[in-house]
Amino acid sequence: MEHDILYKKRHSLSHLMASAVLSFFPDTKLAIGPAIDNGFYYDFDFSAPITDKDLGKIEQKMRELLKKWGGFEGKEISEDEARKLFADNPYKLELIDGIVKNPDASARKITVYTSGDFTDLCAGGHVDNVKEIESGSFKLDRIAGAYWRGDEKNKMLTRIYGLAFDTKADLEKYQADQIEAEKRDHRKLGKELDLFVFSDVVGKGLPLFTEKGATIRRELERFIVDEEIRRGYKHVCTPDLAKIDLYKKSGHYPYYKDSMYAPIKIDEEEFMLRPMSCPHHFELYLSKPRTYKELPMRIGELVKLYRYEQSGELNGLVRLRGFCLADAHIICADSTQAADEVNGALDLIDYILQIFKLELGKNYWYRLSLGDRGDDKKYFKDDNAWDEAEEKLRLVLKARTSHYVEASGEAAFYGPKIDIQMKNVRGKEDTAFTVQYDFVMPQRFKLNYIDRDGKEKQGIVVHRSSIGCIERVMAFLIEHYAGNFPVWLSPTQIKIIPVRENHNEYAKKVADELRSLDIRVDLDTTDEGMGKKIRAGKNMRVPYMLVLGDKEIESGELALEIRDGARQEKISLENLKTRLQKEIKERV
Ligand SMILES: [Zn+2]
Ligand SMILES: [Zn+2]
Repeated sequence: MEHDILYKKRHSLSHLMASAVLSFFPDTKLAIGPAIDNGFYYDFDFSAPITDKDLGKIEQKMRELLKKWGGFEGKEISEDEARKLFADNPYKLELIDGIVKNPDASARKITVYTSGDFTDLCAGGHVDNVKEIESGSFKLDRIAGAYWRGDEKNKMLTRIYGLAFDTKADLEKYQADQIEAEKRDHRKLGKELDLFVFSDVVGKGLPLFTEKGATIRRELERFIVDEEIRRGYKHVCTPDLAKIDLYKKSGHYPYYKDSMYAPIKIDEEEFMLRPMSCPHHFELYLSKPRTYKELPMRIGELVKLYRYEQSGELNGLVRLRGFCLADAHIICADSTQAADEVNGALDLIDYILQIFKLELGKNYWYRLSLGDRGDDKKYFKDDNAWDEAEEKLRLVLKARTSHYVEASGEAAFYGPKIDIQMKNVRGKEDTAFTVQYDFVMPQRFKLNYIDRDGKEKQGIVVHRSSIGCIERVMAFLIEHYAGNFPVWLSPTQIKIIPVRENHNEYAKKVADELRSLDIRVDLDTTDEGMGKKIRAGKNMRVPYMLVLGDKEIESGELALEIRDGARQEKISLENLKTRLQKEIKERV
Protein backbone atom coordinates (compact mmCIF):
# COMPACT_ATOMS: atom_id res chain seq x y z
CA MET A 1 0.00 0.00 0.00
CA GLU A 2 1.29 3.44 -0.94
CA HIS A 3 1.23 5.88 1.96
CA ASP A 4 1.11 9.65 1.84
CA ILE A 5 3.97 11.73 3.15
CA LEU A 6 2.27 12.68 6.43
CA TYR A 7 1.66 9.01 7.19
CA LYS A 8 5.34 8.32 6.53
CA LYS A 9 6.41 11.12 8.86
CA ARG A 10 4.16 9.81 11.61
CA HIS A 11 5.29 6.26 11.18
CA SER A 12 8.96 7.34 11.16
CA LEU A 13 8.38 9.28 14.38
CA SER A 14 7.23 6.12 16.12
CA HIS A 15 10.69 4.65 15.38
CA LEU A 16 12.32 7.79 16.77
CA MET A 17 10.20 7.54 19.91
CA ALA A 18 10.99 3.86 20.43
CA SER A 19 14.70 4.56 20.10
CA ALA A 20 14.50 7.54 22.48
CA VAL A 21 12.62 5.41 25.03
CA LEU A 22 15.32 2.71 24.84
CA SER A 23 18.05 5.28 25.46
CA PHE A 24 16.53 6.04 28.89
CA PHE A 25 14.95 2.66 29.69
CA PRO A 26 17.15 0.07 27.91
CA ASP A 27 15.32 -2.99 29.26
CA THR A 28 11.96 -1.88 27.80
CA LYS A 29 10.28 -4.36 25.45
CA LEU A 30 8.79 -2.86 22.33
CA ALA A 31 5.41 -4.05 21.05
CA ILE A 32 3.86 -2.18 18.11
CA GLY A 33 4.00 1.44 16.94
CA PRO A 34 1.75 2.54 14.07
CA ALA A 35 0.80 5.91 12.57
CA ILE A 36 -2.71 7.10 13.46
CA ASP A 37 -4.88 9.91 12.16
CA ASN A 38 -3.44 12.65 14.36
CA GLY A 39 0.05 11.29 14.87
CA PHE A 40 1.44 7.99 16.12
CA TYR A 41 1.83 5.78 19.16
CA TYR A 42 4.03 2.99 20.41
CA ASP A 43 3.13 0.31 22.98
CA PHE A 44 5.89 -0.45 25.49
CA ASP A 45 6.39 -3.00 28.23
CA PHE A 46 8.36 -0.99 30.80
CA SER A 47 10.06 -2.74 33.70
CA ALA A 48 9.04 0.15 35.98
CA PRO A 49 6.12 2.53 35.36
CA ILE A 50 6.85 5.87 33.72
CA THR A 51 4.86 9.09 34.19
CA ASP A 52 3.84 12.12 32.13
CA LYS A 53 6.99 13.82 33.45
CA ASP A 54 9.13 11.44 31.39
CA LEU A 55 7.53 12.56 28.13
CA GLY A 56 9.51 15.82 27.98
CA LYS A 57 12.91 14.16 28.01
CA ILE A 58 11.82 11.47 25.53
CA GLU A 59 10.58 14.20 23.20
CA GLN A 60 13.84 16.12 23.67
CA LYS A 61 15.80 12.99 22.79
CA MET A 62 13.69 12.49 19.66
CA ARG A 63 14.69 15.97 18.46
CA GLU A 64 18.34 15.09 19.00
CA LEU A 65 17.95 11.86 17.03
CA LEU A 66 16.20 13.81 14.28
CA LYS A 67 19.48 15.66 13.71
CA LYS A 68 21.57 12.47 13.73
CA TRP A 69 19.45 10.04 11.75
CA GLY A 70 19.13 9.96 7.98
CA GLY A 71 17.12 7.50 5.94
CA PHE A 72 15.74 4.07 6.79
CA GLU A 73 17.45 1.00 5.49
CA GLY A 74 15.24 -2.02 5.00
CA LYS A 75 16.12 -5.64 4.42
CA GLU A 76 14.37 -8.97 4.31
CA ILE A 77 15.60 -11.52 6.84
CA SER A 78 14.93 -15.21 7.40
CA GLU A 79 12.66 -16.51 10.14
CA ASP A 80 15.70 -17.83 12.04
CA GLU A 81 17.51 -14.53 11.86
CA ALA A 82 14.40 -12.74 13.01
CA ARG A 83 13.88 -15.06 15.97
CA LYS A 84 17.51 -14.56 16.98
CA LEU A 85 17.33 -10.79 16.62
CA PHE A 86 14.20 -10.50 18.78
CA ALA A 87 14.90 -13.48 21.05
CA ASP A 88 14.23 -11.56 24.27
CA ASN A 89 11.05 -9.84 23.03
CA PRO A 90 7.91 -12.00 23.28
CA TYR A 91 5.80 -9.41 21.43
CA LYS A 92 8.00 -9.31 18.35
CA LEU A 93 8.22 -13.12 18.42
CA GLU A 94 4.44 -13.29 18.39
CA LEU A 95 4.36 -10.87 15.45
CA ILE A 96 6.89 -13.05 13.64
CA ASP A 97 4.62 -16.07 14.27
CA GLY A 98 1.79 -14.15 12.66
CA ILE A 99 3.87 -13.25 9.61
CA VAL A 100 5.13 -16.77 8.91
CA LYS A 101 1.66 -18.26 9.41
CA ASN A 102 -0.07 -15.73 7.15
CA PRO A 103 -2.40 -17.63 4.79
CA ASP A 104 -1.37 -15.19 2.06
CA ALA A 105 2.07 -16.44 0.94
CA SER A 106 3.07 -13.05 -0.48
CA ALA A 107 2.69 -11.52 3.01
CA ARG A 108 5.11 -13.98 4.63
CA LYS A 109 8.11 -11.65 4.22
CA ILE A 110 9.93 -10.61 7.40
CA THR A 111 11.55 -7.20 7.04
CA VAL A 112 13.49 -5.01 9.43
CA TYR A 113 14.29 -1.33 9.07
CA THR A 114 17.26 0.48 10.56
CA SER A 115 17.85 4.17 11.08
CA GLY A 116 20.67 5.49 13.25
CA ASP A 117 21.54 2.58 15.51
CA PHE A 118 17.91 1.48 15.93
CA THR A 119 16.42 -1.54 14.17
CA ASP A 120 12.79 -2.59 14.30
CA LEU A 121 10.58 -5.26 12.82
CA CYS A 122 8.57 -3.27 10.31
CA ALA A 123 6.82 -3.53 6.95
CA GLY A 124 8.06 -0.14 5.74
CA GLY A 125 6.45 3.19 4.91
CA HIS A 126 8.99 5.78 6.12
CA VAL A 127 10.21 9.16 4.95
CA ASP A 128 13.31 9.07 2.72
CA ASN A 129 15.18 11.11 5.31
CA VAL A 130 14.03 12.06 8.81
CA LYS A 131 15.25 15.63 8.12
CA GLU A 132 11.99 16.02 6.21
CA ILE A 133 10.25 16.11 9.59
CA GLU A 134 9.96 19.66 10.94
CA SER A 135 11.34 19.69 14.47
CA GLY A 136 8.37 21.54 15.96
CA SER A 137 5.72 19.60 14.08
CA PHE A 138 5.29 16.86 16.68
CA LYS A 139 4.63 16.58 20.39
CA LEU A 140 4.27 13.68 22.79
CA ASP A 141 0.71 13.90 23.97
CA ARG A 142 -0.17 11.43 26.68
CA ILE A 143 0.31 8.04 28.27
CA ALA A 144 -2.44 5.43 28.31
CA GLY A 145 -2.80 1.77 29.17
CA ALA A 146 -3.38 -0.64 26.29
CA TYR A 147 -3.73 -4.40 26.32
CA TRP A 148 -1.40 -6.27 24.00
CA ARG A 149 -3.38 -6.82 20.80
CA GLY A 150 -6.38 -5.06 22.39
CA ASP A 151 -7.29 -8.20 24.31
CA GLU A 152 -8.03 -7.76 28.00
CA LYS A 153 -6.75 -11.26 28.72
CA ASN A 154 -3.28 -10.07 27.70
CA LYS A 155 -0.80 -7.95 29.58
CA MET A 156 -1.50 -4.24 29.96
CA LEU A 157 1.19 -2.25 28.16
CA THR A 158 2.02 1.44 28.27
CA ARG A 159 1.05 3.39 25.20
CA ILE A 160 2.64 6.74 24.47
CA TYR A 161 0.70 8.88 22.03
CA GLY A 162 2.34 11.55 19.93
CA LEU A 163 0.71 14.24 17.81
CA ALA A 164 2.35 14.92 14.46
CA PHE A 165 1.54 17.14 11.50
CA ASP A 166 3.35 18.52 8.48
CA THR A 167 4.23 21.81 10.13
CA LYS A 168 4.38 23.42 13.54
CA ALA A 169 1.51 25.67 12.48
CA ASP A 170 -0.64 22.64 11.63
CA LEU A 171 0.12 21.11 15.00
CA GLU A 172 -0.81 24.32 16.82
CA LYS A 173 -4.03 24.62 14.85
CA TYR A 174 -4.91 21.03 15.73
CA GLN A 175 -4.30 21.71 19.43
CA ALA A 176 -6.41 24.88 19.34
CA ASP A 177 -9.20 22.97 17.56
CA GLN A 178 -9.09 20.30 20.25
CA ILE A 179 -9.57 22.88 22.99
CA GLU A 180 -12.55 24.33 21.09
CA ALA A 181 -13.93 20.83 20.46
CA GLU A 182 -13.75 20.06 24.17
CA LYS A 183 -15.85 23.12 24.94
CA ARG A 184 -18.41 21.94 22.41
CA ASP A 185 -18.41 18.30 23.48
CA HIS A 186 -22.02 17.16 23.36
CA ARG A 187 -21.66 15.13 26.55
CA LYS A 188 -20.49 18.22 28.42
CA LEU A 189 -23.05 20.58 26.85
CA GLY A 190 -25.79 17.95 27.22
CA LYS A 191 -25.31 18.17 30.97
CA GLU A 192 -24.88 21.97 31.13
CA LEU A 193 -27.96 22.62 28.99
CA ASP A 194 -29.98 19.89 30.74
CA LEU A 195 -30.74 17.93 27.55
CA PHE A 196 -30.15 14.29 28.49
CA VAL A 197 -28.77 12.06 31.24
CA PHE A 198 -27.67 8.47 31.68
CA SER A 199 -28.61 6.31 34.64
CA ASP A 200 -26.67 3.26 35.79
CA VAL A 201 -29.93 1.68 36.87
CA VAL A 202 -31.50 2.12 33.43
CA GLY A 203 -28.35 0.87 31.75
CA LYS A 204 -25.33 1.86 29.71
CA GLY A 205 -25.88 3.33 26.27
CA LEU A 206 -29.54 4.12 26.98
CA PRO A 207 -30.05 7.89 27.29
CA LEU A 208 -32.92 9.57 29.12
CA PHE A 209 -33.94 12.80 27.40
CA THR A 210 -35.14 15.62 29.64
CA GLU A 211 -38.03 17.86 28.62
CA LYS A 212 -35.55 20.19 26.90
CA GLY A 213 -33.71 17.42 25.05
CA ALA A 214 -36.96 15.77 24.05
CA THR A 215 -38.12 19.11 22.62
CA ILE A 216 -35.14 19.27 20.26
CA ARG A 217 -35.70 15.65 19.35
CA ARG A 218 -39.38 16.18 18.64
CA GLU A 219 -38.64 19.21 16.44
CA LEU A 220 -36.16 17.16 14.40
CA GLU A 221 -38.62 14.30 14.08
CA ARG A 222 -41.50 16.56 13.02
CA PHE A 223 -39.28 18.33 10.55
CA ILE A 224 -38.15 15.15 8.86
CA VAL A 225 -41.49 13.35 8.84
CA ASP A 226 -43.33 16.40 7.44
CA GLU A 227 -40.66 16.94 4.80
CA GLU A 228 -40.70 13.30 3.74
CA ILE A 229 -44.49 13.18 3.51
CA ARG A 230 -44.28 16.30 1.35
CA ARG A 231 -41.88 14.36 -0.89
CA GLY A 232 -44.20 11.43 -1.37
CA TYR A 233 -43.11 9.11 1.43
CA LYS A 234 -45.70 6.92 3.16
CA HIS A 235 -44.86 7.03 6.86
CA VAL A 236 -45.68 3.80 8.63
CA CYS A 237 -45.30 2.26 12.07
CA THR A 238 -43.97 -1.27 12.61
CA PRO A 239 -43.07 -3.16 15.83
CA ASP A 240 -39.76 -2.99 17.70
CA LEU A 241 -39.51 -6.76 17.86
CA ALA A 242 -40.27 -9.63 15.53
CA LYS A 243 -39.86 -13.37 15.28
CA ILE A 244 -36.36 -14.59 14.70
CA ASP A 245 -37.67 -16.23 11.49
CA LEU A 246 -38.01 -12.79 9.91
CA TYR A 247 -34.26 -12.09 10.22
CA LYS A 248 -33.48 -15.58 9.01
CA LYS A 249 -35.65 -14.99 5.97
CA SER A 250 -33.92 -11.67 5.27
CA GLY A 251 -30.52 -13.28 5.68
CA HIS A 252 -29.54 -10.63 8.25
CA TYR A 253 -29.36 -13.12 11.10
CA PRO A 254 -25.92 -14.65 10.43
CA TYR A 255 -24.39 -11.24 9.70
CA TYR A 256 -25.98 -9.38 12.60
CA LYS A 257 -25.98 -12.19 15.15
CA ASP A 258 -23.18 -10.65 17.19
CA SER A 259 -24.79 -7.24 17.29
CA MET A 260 -28.30 -8.50 18.10
CA TYR A 261 -29.56 -9.08 21.63
CA ALA A 262 -30.42 -12.55 22.82
CA PRO A 263 -33.82 -13.88 21.69
CA ILE A 264 -36.86 -13.34 23.90
CA LYS A 265 -39.01 -16.43 24.30
CA ILE A 266 -42.77 -15.84 24.07
CA ASP A 267 -45.16 -18.83 23.96
CA GLU A 268 -42.52 -21.20 22.61
CA GLU A 269 -41.54 -18.77 19.86
CA GLU A 270 -38.34 -16.73 19.72
CA PHE A 271 -38.41 -12.98 19.16
CA MET A 272 -35.63 -10.47 18.59
CA LEU A 273 -35.38 -6.75 19.29
CA ARG A 274 -34.91 -5.45 15.81
CA PRO A 275 -31.45 -4.37 14.64
CA MET A 276 -32.86 -3.04 11.33
CA SER A 277 -36.24 -2.31 9.80
CA CYS A 278 -35.89 -3.55 6.20
CA PRO A 279 -37.71 -6.89 6.64
CA HIS A 280 -40.58 -5.22 8.53
CA HIS A 281 -41.18 -2.83 5.65
CA PHE A 282 -40.91 -5.64 3.11
CA GLU A 283 -43.61 -7.65 4.90
CA LEU A 284 -45.82 -4.58 4.74
CA TYR A 285 -45.19 -4.33 1.00
CA LEU A 286 -46.04 -8.01 0.61
CA SER A 287 -49.36 -7.65 2.42
CA LYS A 288 -51.12 -7.08 -0.95
CA PRO A 289 -50.39 -7.78 -4.60
CA ARG A 290 -48.67 -4.69 -6.08
CA THR A 291 -48.67 -3.18 -9.54
CA TYR A 292 -46.26 -0.88 -11.41
CA LYS A 293 -48.66 2.02 -10.74
CA GLU A 294 -47.77 1.96 -7.05
CA LEU A 295 -44.04 2.20 -7.70
CA PRO A 296 -41.82 3.73 -6.61
CA MET A 297 -43.24 3.08 -3.15
CA ARG A 298 -41.41 5.09 -0.50
CA ILE A 299 -41.99 3.49 2.90
CA GLY A 300 -40.63 5.69 5.69
CA GLU A 301 -40.51 5.32 9.46
CA LEU A 302 -38.76 6.67 12.53
CA VAL A 303 -37.60 3.27 13.72
CA LYS A 304 -36.21 2.32 17.10
CA LEU A 305 -33.33 -0.09 16.58
CA TYR A 306 -31.35 -2.14 19.09
CA ARG A 307 -27.79 -3.20 18.52
CA TYR A 308 -25.22 -4.53 20.92
CA GLU A 309 -22.20 -2.30 21.39
CA GLN A 310 -19.32 -3.18 23.69
CA SER A 311 -19.33 -0.96 26.75
CA GLY A 312 -15.94 0.49 25.78
CA GLU A 313 -17.38 1.62 22.43
CA LEU A 314 -20.32 3.52 23.92
CA ASN A 315 -19.94 7.26 23.52
CA GLY A 316 -22.52 9.86 24.61
CA LEU A 317 -25.30 10.01 22.03
CA VAL A 318 -23.00 8.88 19.21
CA ARG A 319 -22.79 5.18 20.07
CA LEU A 320 -25.80 3.74 21.87
CA ARG A 321 -27.40 0.38 22.50
CA GLY A 322 -30.79 1.58 21.28
CA PHE A 323 -31.40 4.44 18.86
CA CYS A 324 -33.92 5.91 16.46
CA LEU A 325 -33.23 5.97 12.72
CA ALA A 326 -35.06 8.07 10.13
CA ASP A 327 -35.22 5.11 7.80
CA ALA A 328 -36.94 4.36 4.51
CA HIS A 329 -37.15 1.64 1.91
CA ILE A 330 -38.10 2.59 -1.59
CA ILE A 331 -39.37 -0.25 -3.74
CA CYS A 332 -38.59 0.56 -7.38
CA ALA A 333 -39.66 -1.10 -10.61
CA ASP A 334 -36.22 -1.16 -12.25
CA SER A 335 -32.68 0.20 -12.10
CA THR A 336 -33.61 3.46 -13.85
CA GLN A 337 -36.31 4.18 -11.30
CA ALA A 338 -33.91 3.19 -8.52
CA ALA A 339 -31.30 5.65 -9.83
CA ASP A 340 -33.94 8.43 -9.83
CA GLU A 341 -34.87 7.55 -6.26
CA VAL A 342 -31.24 7.61 -5.16
CA ASN A 343 -31.01 11.04 -6.72
CA GLY A 344 -34.19 12.13 -4.92
CA ALA A 345 -32.83 10.86 -1.60
CA LEU A 346 -29.66 12.93 -2.14
CA ASP A 347 -31.83 15.99 -2.89
CA LEU A 348 -33.59 15.46 0.43
CA ILE A 349 -30.30 15.07 2.31
CA ASP A 350 -28.89 18.22 0.66
CA TYR A 351 -32.05 20.09 1.67
CA ILE A 352 -31.78 18.97 5.31
CA LEU A 353 -28.10 19.85 5.53
CA GLN A 354 -28.67 23.26 4.00
CA ILE A 355 -31.18 23.94 6.82
CA PHE A 356 -28.30 23.23 9.22
CA LYS A 357 -26.12 25.63 7.20
CA LEU A 358 -23.81 22.86 6.03
CA GLU A 359 -22.24 23.19 2.61
CA LEU A 360 -21.70 20.39 0.13
CA GLY A 361 -17.99 20.11 -0.65
CA LYS A 362 -17.03 22.09 2.44
CA ASN A 363 -18.77 20.49 5.41
CA TYR A 364 -19.80 17.23 3.81
CA TRP A 365 -19.21 15.22 0.67
CA TYR A 366 -20.47 12.19 -1.20
CA ARG A 367 -18.64 8.89 -1.26
CA LEU A 368 -19.47 6.16 -3.75
CA SER A 369 -18.88 2.93 -1.83
CA LEU A 370 -18.17 0.01 -4.12
CA GLY A 371 -18.03 -3.76 -3.72
CA ASP A 372 -15.19 -6.13 -4.46
CA ARG A 373 -15.87 -8.77 -7.13
CA GLY A 374 -13.18 -10.99 -5.65
CA ASP A 375 -14.71 -11.13 -2.17
CA ASP A 376 -17.70 -13.50 -2.28
CA LYS A 377 -17.84 -13.69 1.48
CA LYS A 378 -18.40 -10.03 2.10
CA TYR A 379 -20.44 -9.33 -1.03
CA PHE A 380 -23.34 -11.12 -2.69
CA LYS A 381 -22.11 -12.84 -5.87
CA ASP A 382 -23.69 -11.34 -8.99
CA ASP A 383 -21.06 -9.50 -11.04
CA ASN A 384 -23.50 -8.17 -13.65
CA ALA A 385 -25.85 -6.73 -11.05
CA TRP A 386 -22.91 -5.08 -9.26
CA ASP A 387 -21.56 -3.60 -12.51
CA GLU A 388 -24.93 -2.20 -13.45
CA ALA A 389 -25.71 -0.79 -10.00
CA GLU A 390 -22.29 0.82 -9.55
CA GLU A 391 -22.49 2.45 -12.96
CA LYS A 392 -25.98 3.80 -12.24
CA LEU A 393 -24.85 5.35 -8.97
CA ARG A 394 -21.76 6.80 -10.63
CA LEU A 395 -23.96 8.45 -13.27
CA VAL A 396 -26.22 9.89 -10.56
CA LEU A 397 -23.21 11.46 -8.86
CA LYS A 398 -21.70 12.73 -12.12
CA ALA A 399 -24.98 14.42 -13.05
CA ARG A 400 -25.00 16.22 -9.70
CA THR A 401 -21.71 17.87 -10.76
CA SER A 402 -20.44 17.89 -7.19
CA HIS A 403 -17.13 16.37 -6.36
CA TYR A 404 -17.27 12.86 -4.91
CA VAL A 405 -14.80 10.16 -3.91
CA GLU A 406 -14.91 6.46 -4.66
CA ALA A 407 -14.05 3.83 -2.06
CA SER A 408 -13.80 0.17 -2.89
CA GLY A 409 -14.67 -2.48 -0.34
CA GLU A 410 -17.04 -0.12 1.52
CA ALA A 411 -20.33 -1.31 -0.01
CA ALA A 412 -23.12 -3.16 1.81
CA PHE A 413 -23.48 -6.92 1.38
CA TYR A 414 -26.35 -6.50 -1.05
CA GLY A 415 -25.17 -3.64 -3.25
CA PRO A 416 -23.21 -0.39 -3.68
CA LYS A 417 -24.15 2.76 -1.81
CA ILE A 418 -23.61 6.48 -1.63
CA ASP A 419 -22.41 7.63 1.77
CA ILE A 420 -22.61 11.17 2.99
CA GLN A 421 -19.32 11.77 4.79
CA MET A 422 -18.87 14.44 7.41
CA LYS A 423 -16.24 15.54 9.87
CA ASN A 424 -17.19 16.22 13.47
CA VAL A 425 -15.74 19.13 15.47
CA ARG A 426 -12.76 16.95 16.34
CA GLY A 427 -12.02 16.51 12.65
CA LYS A 428 -12.95 12.82 12.66
CA GLU A 429 -14.53 11.63 9.42
CA ASP A 430 -17.64 9.53 9.68
CA THR A 431 -20.53 8.33 7.54
CA ALA A 432 -23.51 10.46 8.56
CA PHE A 433 -26.15 9.19 6.16
CA THR A 434 -26.33 6.54 3.53
CA VAL A 435 -28.31 5.67 0.40
CA GLN A 436 -28.02 2.03 -0.60
CA TYR A 437 -28.91 0.17 -3.74
CA ASP A 438 -30.12 -3.39 -3.14
CA PHE A 439 -30.73 -6.15 -5.69
CA VAL A 440 -30.54 -9.01 -3.17
CA MET A 441 -33.46 -8.43 -0.79
CA PRO A 442 -36.03 -8.17 -3.62
CA GLN A 443 -34.96 -11.67 -4.67
CA ARG A 444 -35.02 -13.07 -1.16
CA PHE A 445 -38.38 -11.54 -0.23
CA LYS A 446 -39.92 -11.78 -3.71
CA LEU A 447 -40.63 -8.06 -3.78
CA ASN A 448 -42.52 -8.37 -7.04
CA TYR A 449 -45.13 -6.34 -8.89
CA ILE A 450 -47.35 -6.76 -11.94
CA ASP A 451 -45.94 -4.67 -14.78
CA ARG A 452 -47.75 -2.85 -17.61
CA ASP A 453 -47.57 -5.98 -19.74
CA GLY A 454 -49.34 -8.07 -17.10
CA LYS A 455 -46.17 -9.98 -16.21
CA GLU A 456 -44.85 -10.36 -12.68
CA LYS A 457 -41.46 -8.68 -12.23
CA GLN A 458 -38.93 -8.26 -9.46
CA GLY A 459 -38.28 -4.83 -7.99
CA ILE A 460 -35.16 -3.12 -6.67
CA VAL A 461 -34.90 -1.61 -3.20
CA VAL A 462 -33.25 1.64 -2.16
CA HIS A 463 -32.50 1.77 1.59
CA ARG A 464 -31.82 5.26 2.83
CA SER A 465 -31.57 7.30 5.99
CA SER A 466 -32.43 10.97 5.58
CA ILE A 467 -31.47 12.71 8.79
CA GLY A 468 -29.79 9.52 9.98
CA CYS A 469 -29.92 8.45 13.59
CA ILE A 470 -31.78 11.10 15.61
CA GLU A 471 -29.56 10.79 18.69
CA ARG A 472 -26.41 11.02 16.62
CA VAL A 473 -27.62 14.01 14.66
CA MET A 474 -28.45 15.65 17.99
CA ALA A 475 -24.90 15.04 19.19
CA PHE A 476 -23.61 16.50 15.95
CA LEU A 477 -25.87 19.57 16.14
CA ILE A 478 -25.09 20.28 19.81
CA GLU A 479 -21.41 20.45 18.85
CA HIS A 480 -21.99 22.17 15.51
CA TYR A 481 -23.98 25.00 17.15
CA ALA A 482 -21.97 24.89 20.40
CA GLY A 483 -25.36 24.79 22.14
CA ASN A 484 -26.59 27.96 20.40
CA PHE A 485 -29.49 26.28 18.62
CA PRO A 486 -31.43 28.21 16.00
CA VAL A 487 -34.79 29.43 17.28
CA TRP A 488 -36.82 26.53 15.82
CA LEU A 489 -34.71 23.97 17.72
CA SER A 490 -34.21 25.92 20.96
CA PRO A 491 -35.95 24.26 23.91
CA THR A 492 -36.76 27.76 25.21
CA GLN A 493 -37.31 30.23 22.41
CA ILE A 494 -37.80 33.32 24.53
CA LYS A 495 -37.35 34.05 28.22
CA ILE A 496 -39.46 36.74 29.84
CA ILE A 497 -38.17 38.49 32.94
CA PRO A 498 -40.44 40.89 34.82
CA VAL A 499 -38.41 43.60 36.61
CA ARG A 500 -40.49 43.56 39.79
CA GLU A 501 -43.39 41.58 41.17
CA ASN A 502 -45.94 44.17 40.08
CA HIS A 503 -44.89 43.51 36.45
CA ASN A 504 -45.74 39.81 36.68
CA GLU A 505 -49.28 40.20 35.46
CA TYR A 506 -48.26 42.03 32.30
CA ALA A 507 -45.43 39.54 31.72
CA LYS A 508 -47.88 36.67 32.00
CA LYS A 509 -50.15 38.30 29.44
CA VAL A 510 -47.22 38.59 26.98
CA ALA A 511 -46.17 35.00 27.70
CA ASP A 512 -49.70 33.68 27.14
CA GLU A 513 -50.01 35.49 23.83
CA LEU A 514 -46.73 34.01 22.59
CA ARG A 515 -47.62 30.53 23.88
CA SER A 516 -50.92 30.65 22.02
CA LEU A 517 -48.79 30.81 18.85
CA ASP A 518 -46.87 27.66 19.94
CA ILE A 519 -43.80 29.68 20.87
CA ARG A 520 -41.87 28.10 23.75
CA VAL A 521 -41.69 30.68 26.56
CA ASP A 522 -39.93 30.58 29.89
CA LEU A 523 -41.58 33.12 32.21
CA ASP A 524 -39.25 33.66 35.13
CA THR A 525 -41.20 34.99 38.14
CA THR A 526 -38.85 33.54 40.75
CA ASP A 527 -37.45 35.74 43.51
CA GLU A 528 -33.92 35.78 42.08
CA GLY A 529 -32.37 39.11 41.16
CA MET A 530 -32.66 40.38 37.58
CA GLY A 531 -28.95 40.00 36.85
CA LYS A 532 -29.02 36.40 37.92
CA LYS A 533 -32.09 35.65 35.78
CA ILE A 534 -30.46 37.21 32.72
CA ARG A 535 -27.23 35.27 33.33
CA ALA A 536 -29.16 32.02 33.67
CA GLY A 537 -30.87 32.70 30.32
CA LYS A 538 -27.51 33.38 28.70
CA ASN A 539 -26.02 30.20 30.17
CA MET A 540 -28.90 28.19 28.75
CA ARG A 541 -28.21 29.85 25.33
CA VAL A 542 -31.78 31.16 25.08
CA PRO A 543 -31.97 33.03 21.74
CA TYR A 544 -34.19 35.89 22.97
CA MET A 545 -34.96 37.53 26.31
CA LEU A 546 -37.46 40.24 27.24
CA VAL A 547 -37.04 42.35 30.36
CA LEU A 548 -40.38 43.93 31.23
CA GLY A 549 -40.71 46.92 33.58
CA ASP A 550 -42.69 50.18 33.93
CA LYS A 551 -41.15 51.76 30.84
CA GLU A 552 -42.09 48.84 28.59
CA ILE A 553 -45.61 48.58 29.95
CA GLU A 554 -46.26 52.31 29.46
CA SER A 555 -44.76 52.66 25.99
CA GLY A 556 -45.64 49.22 24.59
CA GLU A 557 -42.06 49.12 23.24
CA LEU A 558 -40.41 45.93 24.44
CA ALA A 559 -36.67 45.64 25.02
CA LEU A 560 -35.48 42.50 23.25
CA GLU A 561 -32.13 41.02 24.26
CA ILE A 562 -30.55 39.00 21.47
CA ARG A 563 -28.28 36.04 22.25
CA ASP A 564 -25.60 36.65 19.68
CA GLY A 565 -24.77 40.26 20.27
CA ALA A 566 -24.71 43.02 22.81
CA ARG A 567 -27.59 44.63 20.95
CA GLN A 568 -30.88 45.37 22.53
CA GLU A 569 -33.73 46.08 20.18
CA LYS A 570 -36.95 47.96 20.75
CA ILE A 571 -39.86 46.06 19.33
CA SER A 572 -43.65 46.03 19.65
CA LEU A 573 -45.37 42.84 20.78
CA GLU A 574 -47.02 42.43 17.36
CA ASN A 575 -43.69 42.71 15.55
CA LEU A 576 -42.07 40.31 18.00
CA LYS A 577 -44.76 37.71 17.29
CA THR A 578 -44.29 38.06 13.55
CA ARG A 579 -40.53 37.87 13.86
CA LEU A 580 -40.51 34.73 16.01
CA GLN A 581 -43.11 32.97 13.88
CA LYS A 582 -41.16 33.75 10.72
CA GLU A 583 -37.86 32.50 12.14
CA ILE A 584 -39.45 29.30 13.43
CA LYS A 585 -41.29 28.60 10.19
CA GLU A 586 -38.28 29.29 7.98
CA ARG A 587 -35.90 27.46 10.37
CA VAL A 588 -33.28 30.22 10.07
ZN1 LIG B 1 8.70 1.33 10.29
ZN1 LIG C 1 -32.83 -1.21 5.13
